Amino acid sequence: MASRTSPPPILRLPVELHKDIIDLLQLSERALLSVSCRYFAYAIKKPTFDDFLEAEASEWATTKALYVCKGCARFQPLLHFSDDMRKGKRCRSGVDANTRFCVKCGVDREWYPFGTELSIMGRSHVVCKHCKIFTDQVGSTGSCASCSPKKPKRIIRPSFDDWEYSVNSYIGDRHIDELYGVWPDT
Ligand SMILES: [Zn+2]
Ligand SMILES: [Zn+2]
Repeated sequence: MASRTSPPPILRLPVELHKDIIDLLQLSERALLSVSCRYFAYAIKKPTFDDFLEAEASEWATTKALYVCKGCARFQPLLHFSDDMRKGKRCRSGVDANTRFCVKCGVDREWYPFGTELSIMGRSHVVCKHCKIFTDQVGSTGSCASCSPKKPKRIIRPSFDDWEYSVNSYIGDRHIDELYGVWPDT
């Protein structure tokens, strides 16, 4: 009978068998085994970028909506990527999947030039060309809302209409001088 200090059965197997077992495991399973004890933490090598790329097609990565980022060289959830990064040749396991990068890498490493506008799940975002922040508060072209002029057309139009309305209503009437005193008397 095994004593309390005996290693669990799997650790009593020859080291070569451990290697064979590890080779048969999927990346997600290797990750779980590597955190099970110090022995496997050492025995299991950290996955490479290519390991992640290969695992991107696995059911595990697909179900969890994980994609590889070339900057982090690891999986990131779907919402950490712009929509373009998951389309066309950069789709899951696409021919250019190895060029895909997450938004954080794109912003931190300035792979997104300032002023870049991108969409995440259909929602617009911008890397502001003025203050350089990344935000969903999009203003005028390439700018965040805070760095954009504070005169949206919707506010200018009604006052213009009011002005025309006033002119039409009062033209030829002496009240026009009261409204627009700068006009010369006729
Ligand atoms: Zn990244
Ligand atoms: Zn800004």
